[in-house]
Amino acid sequence: MGGLATVTMGSANPQQAETVTAQVSELFEDLERELSTYRSDSTVSLLAKNAGVNPLAVPEATWRVLNLAHHFGQLSEGTFDVTVAPVVKLWGFGGTSALANLPSKEEIQDQLKFVDYRRVILKGQTVFLPFKGMAVDLGGIAKGYAVDRAFDSCRDAGIKDFLIDLSGNIRVSGRPDWGEDWQIGVRDPFDRSRIIGKILLRSGMALATSGSYERFVEIASLRYSHIIDPRTGYPVTGTASVTVLARDATSADSFSTCFFVMGLKEAGGILQKTPPVDVLIVPDIYPTEIWLTSGLAEAFDPLPELSNGVKILTPAAT
Ligand code: ADP
Ligand code: MG
Repeated sequence: MGGLATVTMGSANPQQAETVTAQVSELFEDLERELSTYRSDSTVSLLAKNAGVNPLAVPEATWRVLNLAHHFGQLSEGTFDVTVAPVVKLWGFGGTSALANLPSKEEIQDQLKFVDYRRVILKGQTVFLPFKGMAVDLGGIAKGYAVDRAFDSCRDAGIKDFLIDLSGNIRVSGRPDWGEDWQIGVRDPFDRSRIIGKILLRSGMALATSGSYERFVEIASLRYSHIIDPRTGYPVTGTASVTVLARDATSADSFSTCFFVMGLKEAGGILQKTPPVDVLIVPDIYPTEIWLTSGLAEAFDPLPELSNGVKILTPAAT
């Protein structure tokens, strides 16, 4: 899934810890075989090959993730849309080299025709992308889903205290042996070497961060974030990073992408309608501002020098 996974756990029995870690690692590999965009033999790649041709019977995880993706597509009013894949590809994210030129307006419009999660046909564990050229990219949800499955498997194995981190998609259980609650640093989007503050995570909770510093393409020395606004076909600008606190990692992952697209201006509107999630947004401006909802304000401890920039984000009609 293009990142590093760590599992931190407390277990009196080293043998048990090793068994569970091996299980989680196997689980991640199985999910990657289904959900990866980068593997030409993954279920997700087969779906693209069958677009406009055949419905495909898909394995369990693909089925569940695509149904969840549809659900989050609705909740996010289409700002989270896994069918954005052809546009992601056009901008060159996932490729190895920098693009020489921006895609043209025409090229973007051409690919945008294939973007609409509501057109994915989900029926009896078969999936059909009805037009040739359609594809799905689960990069904004698969890691969260994987973390939730790993969470279940650690709990089922009887482990009480653990933290799972898959490239910044985090979920915790119990507590660390050195303190009350797990503490997670939120990376400074303008300076990777430091954090802007710490978040206390209660048992069972999940945290995900979407940042423009994580992955981007450089075109003519300008940085374009790897998150696309499905309404325009352009990479999102104006937001440096978004962190979402939620009751499960799948919600945290997809909502971090959703809020990244919405940005500060639109976030209030969606917060009025969403299920209980809390969000921290760092807009792409200087000096640093940290906007957070009241639920996160309680759990967030900013660096002293940044505390002046901390502001409360309130749900509001837009
Ligand atoms: P990361 O993968 O860096 O943790 P995100 O969780 O925010 O960041 O997911 C971003 C990924 O989601 C992109 O790399 C791309 O694969 C996909 N994506 C981009 N824009 C959207 C969007 N509007 N809706 C859903 N997925 C998206
Ligand atoms: Mg995400």
